[in-house]
Amino acid sequence: MGYMLRTMDTSAPLSGLAHRHPEASAVELAISGMTCAACATRIEKVLNRLPEVRAVVNFATERASIEYAPDAVDLDKLIETVRKAGYEAHEPLQSQKEDELAAASARTDLRHFIIAAVFTAPLVAQMLPMALGMHDWMLPNWLQFALATPVQFWIGARFYAGSWHALRGGAANMDVLIALGTSAAWAYSTAVTLQGGEGHVYFEASAAIITLVLMGKLLENRARRRASTAIRELIKLQPSLAQVERDGTLVQAPVASIRRGEIFVIRAGDSVPVDGEVVEGESSVDESMLTGESRAVEKQPGARVFTGTMNADGRLRCRATSVGSQTALAAIIRLVEQAQGSKAPIQRLADRISSIFVPVVLALALATWFGWMWAGAPLADALVNAVAVLVIACPCALGLATPTAIMVGTGRGAHAGVLVRNAAALELAGRIDWLAVDKTGTLTEGRPTVTDILPAEGGTEAALLGMAAALEQGSSHPIGLAIRSAAQSRAFALPTIEGFRSDAGRGVQAMIDSKPALLGSATYLSEHGVTADMHVAQTLEQNARTAVGLAHGGRLIGWIGLSDQLRASTPAAIARLHAMGIEVAMLTGDSEQTAQEAARKAGIKVIRSRMMPADKAREIERQRANGRKVGMVGDGVNDAPALAVADVSFAIGAGTDVAIQTADVTLMRSDLVAVADAIDLSRATLAKVRQNLFFAFFYNVLGIPLAALGMLNPVVAGAAMAMSSVSVVSNSLLLRRWRPQPSQSSPRSSTH
Ligand code: ADP
Ligand code: MG
Repeated sequence: MGYMLRTMDTSAPLSGLAHRHPEASAVELAISGMTCAACATRIEKVLNRLPEVRAVVNFATERASIEYAPDAVDLDKLIETVRKAGYEAHEPLQSQKEDELAAASARTDLRHFIIAAVFTAPLVAQMLPMALGMHDWMLPNWLQFALATPVQFWIGARFYAGSWHALRGGAANMDVLIALGTSAAWAYSTAVTLQGGEGHVYFEASAAIITLVLMGKLLENRARRRASTAIRELIKLQPSLAQVERDGTLVQAPVASIRRGEIFVIRAGDSVPVDGEVVEGESSVDESMLTGESRAVEKQPGARVFTGTMNADGRLRCRATSVGSQTALAAIIRLVEQAQGSKAPIQRLADRISSIFVPVVLALALATWFGWMWAGAPLADALVNAVAVLVIACPCALGLATPTAIMVGTGRGAHAGVLVRNAAALELAGRIDWLAVDKTGTLTEGRPTVTDILPAEGGTEAALLGMAAALEQGSSHPIGLAIRSAAQSRAFALPTIEGFRSDAGRGVQAMIDSKPALLGSATYLSEHGVTADMHVAQTLEQNARTAVGLAHGGRLIGWIGLSDQLRASTPAAIARLHAMGIEVAMLTGDSEQTAQEAARKAGIKVIRSRMMPADKAREIERQRANGRKVGMVGDGVNDAPALAVADVSFAIGAGTDVAIQTADVTLMRSDLVAVADAIDLSRATLAKVRQNLFFAFFYNVLGIPLAALGMLNPVVAGAAMAMSSVSVVSNSLLLRRWRPQPSQSSPRSSTH
């Protein structure tokens, strides 16, 4: 595949983006005990107060991603800080262990919910006849007290504990609202009961709120786990056992025991256990689980195989090249994990709101209480309305709106071969309206072939091509590869070179026979004082060829014409991007005419030709200054400066080589369709986030005045509150249905 060659040196130029991540220690902590987004904001605040610490706490994934300077703080200090704020933190355990823990706590939650429901059912049931005017059906107050009290203090203990933790940490969270609201209803009703009066009691409200909130948590956790299955599905791709050659025999061994350099065998139908290189055998391998491209890839000796991919019918003997955390699959999992734990800019508003929400709601509830008392309402009515305000206002849905959608979106992307570095990139990609694309390797196959060898008067093809190939020995540019392989297939002898230098976007030079030799664009030659007849080059370019000239000792030796096939999928991809409202611009180092020809075929109207790598970057900055949101797609070879200044950078055609982690979006497939898919996914995710935020806000904004005006029964408020988080998470789960658009050129079945 073309990209294998091109990606050889892509990590080097792209690592220029590394300045985005200052050098520091980083750690992921699993956080437990958070009940709403206010808790996450709170933990974030205390951690960031430590010197040289940058922390992001994600409520939905229950993770804190922390960067810190090891000489200022250590891990223990970080964990202790979280504990002091009232929550538990530990280093993430093995995923299996964590699954067990999660399952155990889900069982406890279910048991508590059932107990609460059993006690609460009669309390709520008696309300029905009462609503129909049959007051005789009421349970005696003492019985109601007996039913409600265990729910309040046994099952409801978690809310008191949560409140205590939060208050001790100096902040209020949703537990405080629930505990306060239900305690008020319970205490008032108990007082009435103790006085022996026959006055109305509100035990059903306190018990029902607790039961409903528990039910909401239960459903929410279940949905949340489903939202995070993407990583678990990726981990499952790796088999646990493999056939390994040891001491001359083939044995079955745990995958974890395989070392680099060991020989393993993949039988027909096996999953590949570790990354390796085929040493014997032929087969086709399905790599769609990593690349999203469901075309089988033929493997022969020398080819690379990747963990988690599926062997079809042949038998392959392979040498392990990377194992454990070094495999491409492990890199993908890390990337998805990081992305899911990161925070989208759009979430900041929700965070800010939920951090001030609880105190504001407490104030509103108090105001409701005093307002009704002042208006002369009975104590009980004032109390019930205040309780309804406390309960309806819980900001849980708000905290889940963004992270759950991001979680599902990034997971979906990973399945389709779209790896997003973080939530911010996912959010930004959908807002792009100007997309710069490199020509070679992005619009075209990136595998130019030599079509014309045109020596100058008196020269020979052998001399021209031989010298050119010698110059290109040190180059990884597609042009260099094409020229080398053309010389190789004609078995031309190569002269020796000295002092090789490559000038990005122009050409290469070295000394041959103690005389300077240059190979590159016409501009490159004239920059170095070579006056050549440009007529030949122009003719080549009129025929959509890239023309490179060779000069030796200041004299032109000849021209070489190359042509690079447009990818079959390019025109459709460009049309789709245009239809999405994105202006596509071709930025290329090639000459005007060659560029125009390619642009015409691809359907691109905006062309910038003869651009040096720095020009590309400048053009992107210019567009950004004009208020455009700019994306840049490049294959990495000399596009690093442009990729670095774009709002969102796309690395295309990474294949299974995911070393290019510095790009904002890494596309495993090597065509522009994947870029359209990535933008489409980003827009779908953003739309979900907006729906969710609207849901959450709308419901609080509408619910609070209703409750304050006494138009919302506390039981209904409890139900509505529980359902709001469930509906937000379920809405995010709908994103799982997102699929990349099938493209005409490479028909793809659904990947999972
Ligand atoms: P693109 O923008 O299409 O990717 P580049 O910026 O990589 O193009 O290169 C621009 C031009 O510079 C090429 O069309 C070619 O004329 C010249 N060039 C770059 N690298 C080489 C090389 N290794 N050998 C010969 N010519 C080169
Ligand atoms: Mg290029």
